[in-house]
Amino acid sequence: MNHGVLIIGTGPAGVNTAETLRKFGCKEKITMLSKEPFPPYSPPLMANYLETRGASDLIFWKGRDFCKDFDIDCKTSAEVGKVEPKRNRIVLTDGRFLEYDYLVIASGSEMWIPIKCECPADAEKENYYNFKSLTAVSKLLKEVEKGADKAVIIGAGFIGMEIAITLRRIGLSVLVVEMMDRILPRMITRDIAEPLESIVRDMGIELLLNRKGELLKGRETAEELLISDGTLIKANLFIAATGIKPNISFLAGSGIQTQKGIRVNSFLQTNFSTIFAGGDVAEVPDFVTGNIYPHAIYPEAVKQGQIIAFNILGENVHYDGGLNMNSLYHFNLPMISEGAMIAEEKADEELFFSRNNVIRKIGIKDGKILRFELVGDKEGAGLLHTLMTQKRDVSRIKDALVTKKYNQARHFMSIFGP
Ligand SMILES: Cc1cc2nc3c(=O)[nH]c(=O)nc-3n(C[C@H](O)[C@H](O)[C@H](O)COP(=O)(O)OP(=O)(O)OC[C@H]3O[C@@H](n4cnc5c(N)ncnc54)[C@H](O)[C@@H]3O)c2cc1C
Repeated sequence: MNHGVLIIGTGPAGVNTAETLRKFGCKEKITMLSKEPFPPYSPPLMANYLETRGASDLIFWKGRDFCKDFDIDCKTSAEVGKVEPKRNRIVLTDGRFLEYDYLVIASGSEMWIPIKCECPADAEKENYYNFKSLTAVSKLLKEVEKGADKAVIIGAGFIGMEIAITLRRIGLSVLVVEMMDRILPRMITRDIAEPLESIVRDMGIELLLNRKGELLKGRETAEELLISDGTLIKANLFIAATGIKPNISFLAGSGIQTQKGIRVNSFLQTNFSTIFAGGDVAEVPDFVTGNIYPHAIYPEAVKQGQIIAFNILGENVHYDGGLNMNSLYHFNLPMISEGAMIAEEKADEELFFSRNNVIRKIGIKDGKILRFELVGDKEGAGLLHTLMTQKRDVSRIKDALVTKKYNQARHFMSIFGP
């Protein structure tokens, strides 16, 4: 190799590619680029960063000296504007270019913000925020430091709920607007959402469900949000948590195949053999349903980053598919959901069990576990995970599984086998 491995992105996918390359003997030059001015950080720890008002270094989860420790040339505030596969190079927005032997695109995702501000040009940037990058969180933190005390969050997905709970914890008044009938609508069903919503309301967070944020209005900056029932809500911070989209705009004209994200084969290789993609930016098949879409969760970014490294090292490792899993700790209540997203695929049968603040729900399709949701007690999540990922027929043991009679379920399995 002359130019080595060039990695776009210093999030979990990029970092795990670089770290794995070094740990498994790569002596070539490794360069990492981030358009942000920070050392590699972990987005799931941004809530902790905000809560500690920037005092905690936990967010730099590999250590601030990761690049030095692993002999990686990390370039910050270096935004890629263009990729030119035929010339094996990328062009930065400042006009500089960098060549590579292998390119890894781990540029993650950004917030998808459908709600606009009817206020003077550019004013929306003033107090219309998101929680998708440390750059965005740092801006938000500045406003909190200046005394902003009322936040409206648009969207009650996991990012929306995380920011809502964090802002409430640091003393802001918080209202969340969600167009669906429940919080965390992609991850959990109504029965599971209900107890979590009571916890959220007990924290002092106002939830407006079944209402859509339509438009922000303001004379100078965004001052109020118009929602679908005609109400105008005043606040001094508006935060979009309206979904994410892969960061692929800089690939326009490159010839790299994209749809929602970057198309990759089972080696996580793009249509150019020396260009790989992983993490939130890549479209991968779902392990349970086979549907292809970006699986925007941390463990997938880590796994994909590692597999890319092994494939650059010539190991030919197949990626076997992404698995959705969510386990939110903010509710102070054990909770886990795994498997197909709610809107992704309908179960033939939903098994439900509820007793003493424990709720268990298992979706079954063609005799196999399509998804499961556990609240109040995560016991048995490992067994359900194994049965789901091994695609075992659970028809005979499904009732024992949902009612937590695991010994009975294991006994059946030992008799009937897979
Ligand atoms: C608030 C929050 C909480 C989360 N909590 C959880 C959780 O609890 N559990 C979980 O599993 N997942 C969680 N996630 C999701 C998880 O963080 C992501 O799936 C993961 O970070 C994806 O890693 P990535 O490396 O693909 O992308 P990212 O982490 O998004 O990193 C992308 C990198 O690319 C850089 N970049 C982008 N475009 C360019 C460009 N043109 N030029 C140069 N650099 C560029 C960015 O600066 C960044 O360094 C959370 C996400 C957020 C935002």
